[in-house]
Amino acid sequence: MVEVKSQALFDRARKVIPGGVNSPVRACAEVGRVPRFIRRAHGDRIVDIDGNEYIDYVCSWGPGILGHAHPKVVAAVKAACEEGLTFGAPTAREVELAELVRELVPSMEVSRMVNSGTEAVMSAVRVARGFTGRDDILKFEGCYHGHSDGLLVKAGSGLLTGSVSTSAGVPADFVKHTIVVPYNDVKFVEEVFAARGHSIAAVVVEPVAANMGVVLPKPGFLRLLREVTRKYGALLIFDEVITGFRLGLGGAQGVGAIPDVPESDRVVPDLTTLGKIVGGGMPAAVYGGREEIMRSVAPDGNVYQAGTLSGNPLATAAGVATLKLLKADPWIYERLGKKTRRLAEAIVAASKGTTRVTTVASLLSVDFLPWEGESADERYARWYGYLIERGIYVAPSRFEAMFVSDAHTDSDISRTCEVMSRFFAKKA
Ligand SMILES: *Cc1c(COP(=O)(O)O)cnc(C)c1O
Repeated sequence: MVEVKSQALFDRARKVIPGGVNSPVRACAEVGRVPRFIRRAHGDRIVDIDGNEYIDYVCSWGPGILGHAHPKVVAAVKAACEEGLTFGAPTAREVELAELVRELVPSMEVSRMVNSGTEAVMSAVRVARGFTGRDDILKFEGCYHGHSDGLLVKAGSGLLTGSVSTSAGVPADFVKHTIVVPYNDVKFVEEVFAARGHSIAAVVVEPVAANMGVVLPKPGFLRLLREVTRKYGALLIFDEVITGFRLGLGGAQGVGAIPDVPESDRVVPDLTTLGKIVGGGMPAAVYGGREEIMRSVAPDGNVYQAGTLSGNPLATAAGVATLKLLKADPWIYERLGKKTRRLAEAIVAASKGTTRVTTVASLLSVDFLPWEGESADERYARWYGYLIERGIYVAPSRFEAMFVSDAHTDSDISRTCEVMSRFFAKKA
């Protein structure tokens, strides 16, 4: 596969852009490859500037649930373009989007539009702090909530103490307000609340974790978070930037979205953040929740949050079109699930116990176990190289999920299953 133009552009890019990319994982450093510079994408195919075509399982890291350049979404954006790119004044479609969000995710009674998932979570945390009058927040190791200062944090060495930032440039004074706990560790959460529950403004969690591979919440984990936050007067924030409209129309908090969680155990958060799919491929995200809490946001209340391009007409056009298409198609999630399970079954069968495959809805992650002297990282890098050379585009990081879209055809799924199986046949 030729990558002459991508290589040349990458060389140029590195001189003027950090690492040559506008988001670190795109640099493909983990897998030791040159990033493909993309020219265009339609349906389930993505084409790079050298003319190589791939079946795409990155789907722009989540937004592309309908596939690339869905004609109806593109038409909606084009029509919006003709009417003007941005006004800095309210528009009808913003109201329509907020109403759609409330209809599909009923806990989001009142919501505000922002431009990225990072901004949505940052703002939701600020609202939680303003509403409760408390400073501390609790997050889980391995969950990603964007790159705002207080959330780029991992656990330090001691229990209940010493969180450390995962980035330079974050003051220790910010980090000390973020408590980091292992995902699914009910006992640890209880201990933290017993020790400092009355200073915790919010627990922020991915209800299904999808930024460390895909990790399902253990039965009872989300319920415990709901109970303990209620008991101590803290808020529960579900970061559904990935899971929103991906696990189902209602996201992870929707009925039946998380396997093995009975309706009686379904957890509804106080605040929710949406991103990725809600923008339909444009930069848009939403945070919202219980009316009483969201009334704290300016100008109704005293928690300040604003945005020059928030509620942008093109982004709302793409978002509204995408949500309407999802809503109008009662079988879409079933189709997505079926295709994803086909991929999972092929990998499980071919890898003969040398991987752990996790799927939920149209998310899939392949956790490579060290095998025959090769580390998990080395095996993933080899997998990435094998697939991309054969026209299959997966994430250049083993902690990122694979995304299946409605545009993936059965024949492309079959081809993918074949290529993936051959990888393992050659050498497990
Ligand atoms: C992608 C992601 C974010 C950050 O969204 P951006 O739009 O990249 O800022 C936050 N939370 C979760 C769960 C995500 O997957």
